[in-house]
Amino acid sequence: MSERDEACVLQAVEKRLFIDGKWVDAADGRTFDIADPATGETLCSVANATVVDGQAALDAAVAAQPDFAAMPPRQRADVLMQSFHLLHERIDDLALLMTLEMGKPLAEARGEIAYAAEFFRHFAEEAVRIDGGYQTAPHGGARFLVTRQPVGPCLLITPWNFPMAMGTRKLGPAIAAGCTSVIKPAPQTPLSMLALMGILSEAGLPAGAVNCITVTDAGPVMEPLIRSGLARKLSFTGSTTVGRQLLKQCAEKILRTSLELGGNAPFIVFSDADLDEAVEGAVAAKMRNMGQACTAANRIYVQSSVIDEFGRRLAERMAALPVGRGTQPGVAVGPLIDAAALRKVQMLVADAVERGAAVLTGGEAVDGGGYFYPPTVLTNVSPDAALCEQEIFGPVASLIAFETEADVIAAANDTEYGLVSYVFTNDLRRALRVAEALETGMVGLNQGVVSNPSAPFGGVKQSGLGREGGAVGIDEFLETKYIGIAMP
Ligand code: NAP
Repeated sequence: MSERDEACVLQAVEKRLFIDGKWVDAADGRTFDIADPATGETLCSVANATVVDGQAALDAAVAAQPDFAAMPPRQRADVLMQSFHLLHERIDDLALLMTLEMGKPLAEARGEIAYAAEFFRHFAEEAVRIDGGYQTAPHGGARFLVTRQPVGPCLLITPWNFPMAMGTRKLGPAIAAGCTSVIKPAPQTPLSMLALMGILSEAGLPAGAVNCITVTDAGPVMEPLIRSGLARKLSFTGSTTVGRQLLKQCAEKILRTSLELGGNAPFIVFSDADLDEAVEGAVAAKMRNMGQACTAANRIYVQSSVIDEFGRRLAERMAALPVGRGTQPGVAVGPLIDAAALRKVQMLVADAVERGAAVLTGGEAVDGGGYFYPPTVLTNVSPDAALCEQEIFGPVASLIAFETEADVIAAANDTEYGLVSYVFTNDLRRALRVAEALETGMVGLNQGVVSNPSAPFGGVKQSGLGREGGAVGIDEFLETKYIGIAMP
């Protein structure tokens, strides 16, 4: 990509707040800078919303709610389907924009735009299939009519690691169900969401149905909206720490709450697995987004008889991945999001090594501008190393040996998180036994990627509440109403 292409996509994106179908500056005119994580340099600045702007966005969503709920489902579906097509038409520019603000390689950014668009197609198809029921009461003297209605205005908060897909995963079902919303992307990566606002508007979304505010410090702007009682739902994707805080705020007005939080995925390789498949699965589960994914393989448990061979093959594969600015051709590993993320990864690796881990490849930050860390494989990792407890959020594979099925299930479940786990084995009964015993909302069997817009994504334990995607994804945005009819 040339510097001219980069300048063009940056110039084309709106950098103001999107409220009631219009682009507006922040009430106090302030802005904040967006940096390129590959260089640390400023790309552009966007409006920094105030409390007043947040309130205006929620007021617009509240005002638009009755008409949006009454809009025929087919028309809401058409907006989503048209947006799906526009996302694909503009995939090159949108991918470049995402790479610039977030750092992931262009091929991955393109993959994320296609994945994000798929949520719109999936929920366009769901919008026209919202069901109800009609039933005779057991005593015969009444009928039960059951219908489903939009929950009402929603607050949607998303993280920086999947700047487009985490937004469409919430907006798709909200629009399909007839809920209006205020969406707040992460301050590191607001540009993709601002670009999406333009697309939704062009696709015919009515004014006020989706509003977008960008802000550096979300707490003071979002808390009054959560506590106002005007919104009926919060859907949050981000860390467990912040999710817990928001759940407390939601308690006051009993908001419907969906939380997609952190993970600490175990990735289990039994000695009977196809080792090449398991290595490819581990690279996919570890390296997507440079390891900055809630679904990233955090603890890789390998049966002791094959751990040396698995470690050798994985290290060879990881060491061959080209590191660089995501806009460069052939790059497979971009920078981490910021200096704090880089420091955390360095600290976790140093701690593991101090506790006896051996470095098979990587292990030292890359010199130069930007926040680069090389693909790293550690083996002989002690279970009490900090990286077994916390999300690494970086390209570091940590290998731990195990002996028996019972041992590895106990170790895998020994965490407060429960988002996803991965199991590699060619023994069908063992695969199902272990999948059933793992305390996670999702399991990848002989595969390193589980995310699919048509499957229910979500966690148990402290990884979250509710599901996004799949047939149940729209339920999070619908209330069930029962109408009792006397039929004497
Ligand atoms: P984060 O610090 O929790 O922030 C997530 C979002 O919440 C950002 O937009 C952030 O904006 C906002 N936020 C933070 N404090 C807030 C507050 N008091 N009130 C309202 N909003 C607030 O997480 P992150 O570092 O961006 O993302 C990484 C985390 O997300 C990881 O833990 C990862 O596992 C998780 N994640 C989970 C899933 C899933 O589906 N389960 C998917 C992707 C990521 P500000 O920074 O401006 O405060």
